[in-house]
Amino acid sequence: MADFADLGAAREQLDTELALQIRKPEGPQATGYCLSCGAVLCADLRWCDADCRDDWQLDQRRGV
Ligand SMILES: [Zn+2]
Repeated sequence: MADFADLGAAREQLDTELALQIRKPEGPQATGYCLSCGAVLCADLRWCDADCRDDWQLDQRRGV
């Protein structure tokens, strides 16, 4: 049976890595809204998650 403390630690590390990816300094300014889907976010975030960030980056490469 899985140890719940270990599961929590793994989840916390995932969240930290995701936050670091989302808060990379290069690229657009945070607006408080997801730049991909428009969802309301914390003021210092630019995307909901890595999927929205990747979608946005794909659009940028396509010149949309
Ligand atoms: Zn989004």
